[in-house]
Amino acid sequence: MAKQMTEQELVDRFEEAVCNDEIFAVYQPQINHSTGRMVGAEALMRWKDPENGMQYPSDFIPALEKHDLIYRADLHMFELVCRLQRKCLDEGISMIPISFNVSRYDIYNKDFVEAIEEIRKKYEVPVNYLRAEITESSAIGGMELIQEVLHKLHKCGYVVEMDDFGSGYSSLNVLKDLEVDVIKLDMRFMSGEIGGRGGTILGSIVQMTKWLETPVIAEGVETMQQADYMKSLGCNYIQGYLYSKPVTEEEFLQKLNQLDHEPVAPPMDLISTMNADRFWDPQSLETLIFSNFVGGAAIFTYEEGKIEILRVNRKYVKELGMNMEEHEILHSDPRKTFDEGNRKIFEDTLKRAIASQDEETCETWRNMYSDCCGPDRVCIRTFMRVIGKAGKQYLFYAMIQNITKEKRLFADLAENEKKLRFASDQVNIYAWEYTIATKEMRPCFRCMRDLNLPPVIRNYPDPVFESGLFPEDYREMYYDWMRQLEEGVDHLEGVIPLTVGRIPFRIKYTLECDENGKPLKAYGSAALVVEEKEG
Ligand code: C2E
Ligand code: CA
Ligand code: CA
Repeated sequence: MAKQMTEQELVDRFEEAVCNDEIFAVYQPQINHSTGRMVGAEALMRWKDPENGMQYPSDFIPALEKHDLIYRADLHMFELVCRLQRKCLDEGISMIPISFNVSRYDIYNKDFVEAIEEIRKKYEVPVNYLRAEITESSAIGGMELIQEVLHKLHKCGYVVEMDDFGSGYSSLNVLKDLEVDVIKLDMRFMSGEIGGRGGTILGSIVQMTKWLETPVIAEGVETMQQADYMKSLGCNYIQGYLYSKPVTEEEFLQKLNQLDHEPVAPPMDLISTMNADRFWDPQSLETLIFSNFVGGAAIFTYEEGKIEILRVNRKYVKELGMNMEEHEILHSDPRKTFDEGNRKIFEDTLKRAIASQDEETCETWRNMYSDCCGPDRVCIRTFMRVIGKAGKQYLFYAMIQNITKEKRLFADLAENEKKLRFASDQVNIYAWEYTIATKEMRPCFRCMRDLNLPPVIRNYPDPVFESGLFPEDYREMYYDWMRQLEEGVDHLEGVIPLTVGRIPFRIKYTLECDENGKPLKAYGSAALVVEEKEG
């Protein structure tokens, strides 16, 4: 039976344990889930004490870090990995890259890269069979140190993996600043059932890493369901108990001999840093808007005619108005909802935005379908802007407004306008009465139907500003109107842009007073402003 060693025992026995190879490496295979072949492995530290039995990293690594012994332990591990790769080279055993763990304390040691290079050269192992795993938490001590180490590792030709990605809250920013070549996503950090909220986050992360052209390895994969799910997101590389627990060197060599595995790929190109800083920056307007602004926002990619939605905020889902769920929208291609004419409008706008590097807008009708609402036709105004580019792929930021109601209303009104063209311009298209003493507004039937107004609006006009029917910047002016009516001004007139579409209406008020001249009621009307054509 293994017995956990005390901190003192660990410190006292450490040096001897290293020399006697009581501290040694086990290897966990990384598998391509599509082919079942081994593509790599990770070396994990074990300590088998002659008296106390097997010790696991969670029990001894904190003590090694605390007593400044982790550096020595990691160099020892690196040497064991080199020794194994040398053995493979010598005995003609086919090889795969092996990843070694770099503690954040190693990064604080300025000779770290020189030290591993010395060992590697001693064993004459080609650098593409060794991969460094650094953790996000290494960035805690400041980005400069870790960037310097990363730069040195790259210069020597090492592939660098970001371990435990997704465990820290600043993940995306770390990723943006560190040019890592591979990302390791730990399934154990993703709480909740697959495809749920956690799944959506996972999906977006995988999508974003694709966009950064950074391959992903899923770690801690225990079930086939998880593996298939990761595969469905386009992440094929799996490390986890599903395929194999970490195994001894001997067993690993057997696996290398038996298992069909994939020959080592040529060293990967470093990812290209893109001009998408504003999107990643938590302080930026884009991020602020994305998470906080009232409007619906989405991030999508566009590549050779294909669109894929990566991220949407809650308001986006709401704005579409189809009572859909986020997952029904993510990864879908909105072009499928367009007829030919509207698709052309949308694609022309995309191209315009690429050319202008500025915000471009269009209005398109979409044939939507949701499980909840069935088929419907909605009109969406989209504001879009390019925020990044990788190869032929463009990353877009978009904001949407559902303007279906306004469009229909406008169409109705235009129809009415035609009919009323020759009638007097006094014709009241929308009408209401306002009772001055009680501040109650009673709209006509058309107002109720088209603008969704209740039969009585109390405390008028506050609710129509709050609902957005009237624009906020007209509030003071409109209050002033109400005051003037109270004071007996018998006629008011002005143009106010109404509804979400901010369509200009001519608003008129006529006052009714009692026999003593005291203001009683005001009769309001709103008529669509029709541009008079010259000539
Ligand atoms: P890590 O680098 O994230 O390593 C992966 C850990 O997840 C390993 O634990 C592995 O055994 C475990 N694991 C792999 N697949 C599964 C799975 O499907 N389910 C579950 N529940 N676990 C899985 P291990 O070997 O106990 O190592 C723990 C941590 O200790 C490592 O996490 C790493 O941070 C550290 N560590 C291990 N070896 C070294 C080393 O040589 N140097 C340094 N500095 N740290 C090391
Ligand atoms: Ca690791
Ligand atoms: Ca990990």
